[in-house]
Amino acid sequence: MPMSVHDDDARRLEALAELDILDTPSEVAFDRLTGLCRKIFGVPMSTLTLIDGHRQWFKSAVGMADREGERRPALCNYAIRELEPLIIPDTHRDERLADNVLVHGRPFIRFYAGAQLRISGVNIGTLCVMDTTPREFSAHDVDVLKDLAAIAVDELMLRNLSMRDGLTGALSRRAFRNEGERLRALAERHGQKLTCALIDIDHFKLVNDSYGHAVGDLVLSRVVEACRAVLRASDAIGRLGGEEFGVLLPHTGLRDGLAVLEKVRMAIAGLAIESPCGPIRVTASFGAADLARGLRFEALLERADLAMYSAKDSGRNRGVAWVEAAPSIAPSLRRVFKAGQIAFNAGRSSFDCTVRALSETAASLDVISMADVPEHFKLAIASDGFSRACRMTSRSDKRIEVAFV
Ligand code: GH3
Ligand code: MG
Ligand code: MG
Repeated sequence: MPMSVHDDDARRLEALAELDILDTPSEVAFDRLTGLCRKIFGVPMSTLTLIDGHRQWFKSAVGMADREGERRPALCNYAIRELEPLIIPDTHRDERLADNVLVHGRPFIRFYAGAQLRISGVNIGTLCVMDTTPREFSAHDVDVLKDLAAIAVDELMLRNLSMRDGLTGALSRRAFRNEGERLRALAERHGQKLTCALIDIDHFKLVNDSYGHAVGDLVLSRVVEACRAVLRASDAIGRLGGEEFGVLLPHTGLRDGLAVLEKVRMAIAGLAIESPCGPIRVTASFGAADLARGLRFEALLERADLAMYSAKDSGRNRGVAWVEAAPSIAPSLRRVFKAGQIAFNAGRSSFDCTVRALSETAASLDVISMADVPEHFKLAIASDGFSRACRMTSRSDKRIEVAFV
């Protein structure tokens, strides 16, 4: 029996949550595959794309300016609905793409071939190649692309087993979560303290933009080294995102934790990283939270994250502790991962979103861009047959908090 699009959507998001791969740093294994695609097929662009609720996100992208984009016009979003690779020799001859922004605007995709990444019986994304001129793609080419996509799937499954981040030697995001869960359970059982911190390098984009990505990479490994030198062997450090790290301090309360973080902050700020462009200096912002009875590890991490954002807000290069009054997310919100739709203008305008948290009265949504999202709108979650009128209560870069009205 054919599955509906919504069933597939929900199952795809489940598979993605299981992989825990969205917004993780780039990895050599996947960059090699897109690089190979470009060489084998002689195309300027190749991406390993995963389809989130509201966006396409690239685990690897060569020849592309962005790391993510809106879901709806994405050619990979068409491809995941098919069973066999989607080949479009000339996008200008495809009716579906008559007013597609990625075809008629940057990156001006004229040719597209995408092979599905199928995991647990559902298409989570594609390995694809693109060109700005029309071209033919032979049956043999399709076969090769399918084989490369199968290798990508194998890699995706394997990376689940990998504990360490290849660049910095810090724990992988998944391993950090496991360690956090383990330490939380231990601390709770024995009535011990545990502090969790998030570290985000300040204006790191500027480092990349000024000195290049390779120097950026060097800075990342030096920063982790500096953290390690200050932390105890029993503390854990994990790479949670590109230039964002998590730290776990067992047997440590919030006040002592902040003192440790202050040492880490000074160690990072004191680095003069030798590079071909001369010595480079960076700073980082810190957020910390300590374990409270019954708090899940995810919630502890979220508190540290909120505190880190307030450290950024109040001027960077500092540490801030989470305080009870700080949360913008009501505690009754359940963490969910669902594809949603924001509709307004009497239903004439709509955007895709990903629903990250949900309660009886509120929700937390991710969108690709804040531009054009009005104060009041309707939120629909097709897979749940859910539809509510919403009022925006807060917004940050790509996250909207709403209350149902
Ligand atoms: P803020 O102070 O607000 O944190 O500013 P920022 O520039 O650090 O923050 P933003 O999140 O905008 O930029 C993070 C940058 O990190 C963007 C991305 O290019 C870079 N980045 C992510 N992963 C890697 C990586 O593995 N290597 C290098 N060199 N750069 C990376
Ligand atoms: Mg940063
Ligand atoms: Mg960041």
